[in-house]
Amino acid sequence: MISKRPFAKWLGDTNEVTRIFLAAGEIPDMINLAGGLPEPSVWPADIIADMAYKAVLENTEEALAYSPIEGLPRLRDVIAERYNNNETKLTRDNVLVTTGGMQALDLLGKIMLDEGGLIAGQFPTYLGALDAWRPRKPSYRPMHLEGNKKFDAHAALEGAKFGYIVPNFSNPSGFLVPLETRKSFVDAAHATGTLLIEDDPYGTLYLDGPPLPRLLDLSAKRQIGPYDGPIVYLGTLSKMLVPGLRIGWVIGAPDVITALTLAKQGSDICTSGLCQKIAQEAFSQGLIEDILAPTLSIYKTRRDVLCDAMEANLSELFQWTKPQGGMFVWAQAIDPRIDTNLLLHTAMDCGVCVSPSSAFDPSGANKNSIRINFTLNEPDKLNVGIKRLATATRRLLAES
Ligand code: PMP
Repeated sequence: MISKRPFAKWLGDTNEVTRIFLAAGEIPDMINLAGGLPEPSVWPADIIADMAYKAVLENTEEALAYSPIEGLPRLRDVIAERYNNNETKLTRDNVLVTTGGMQALDLLGKIMLDEGGLIAGQFPTYLGALDAWRPRKPSYRPMHLEGNKKFDAHAALEGAKFGYIVPNFSNPSGFLVPLETRKSFVDAAHATGTLLIEDDPYGTLYLDGPPLPRLLDLSAKRQIGPYDGPIVYLGTLSKMLVPGLRIGWVIGAPDVITALTLAKQGSDICTSGLCQKIAQEAFSQGLIEDILAPTLSIYKTRRDVLCDAMEANLSELFQWTKPQGGMFVWAQAIDPRIDTNLLLHTAMDCGVCVSPSSAFDPSGANKNSIRINFTLNEPDKLNVGIKRLATATRRLLAES
């Protein structure tokens, strides 16, 4: 960062490529395959406007006053009810409302990490989580969950401050953590007592089959009564309704919720009451379920178009696995000479932007992969974007 001001040292550790690709959306004619943005045409704007109007006029105090730090009691109840089933027993004491899932990550860093604390993190790792925890200078024990080898979750979690995984269609890799691995993580979290964060923004975006069980549910099975186990589940409205309301939630043991509440007090006092009222109505009226089918239909078409375009244009340059849901395809360059930090620049010169893998690695060392988003752009743009990416990759190789 170029400035003479006495900013905190960690600011110097931020990743420049992240800034570049996050700004790409503003460049005219750029096809942005880099972001993780949902398709706005499915957003029920008129219904949300109506809910907002009613919340302000009919529930003025809840909507416009400060809320309790933990969130509006009724919304916490509605969230608890949403996740309650035969085995998972939640009360509002298991729920904290947050300002997006991002705030939950930030608060977890605040309550769990002293400088240098060890995080057992799924690799590659969501860059927002890396951003949230960077000021605490954590160290990472990488957990590579893909491949055929049985993953040793016990060894991974032992001694860590917490574990972090995105089991449903991970950001960035799109990987779906299989049931056996989920079970072994839950076993390991119970055996070691290490908290395990289950970050789940993409859990409603299954495109090909029924959802796998949540780690929260697998853990709750083991106990009677309100949940008190080691899984800390993070949810958000961002990918199931709209990101702009900034409503997220944490589900966990009551003592974890209390600690997070203390941290939230020093962060933003409370999440917007108006947005909480809209979220409460949206859950109660089934709005999320209403928009799910049209959303999934658009995403499935786009996922298929993107993967077909990749097959036609990129199969000699990259390898990837078609994701079964979520928002991303993770593609690994076949030629080791390809540095995807450099590819970002060449691709942008060709009018397309993707996210380079270094942004999802705390050391920045992983430079052979890219994350490609399929949810935001219409099929024509996906096709053109992939052709541009193929041109850029060939150009980079010719120059190397
Ligand atoms: N976790 C993961 C893995 C994500 O991909 C995102 C959104 N990109 C978030 C958390 C945060 O989402 P939000 O703050 O919008 O709820």
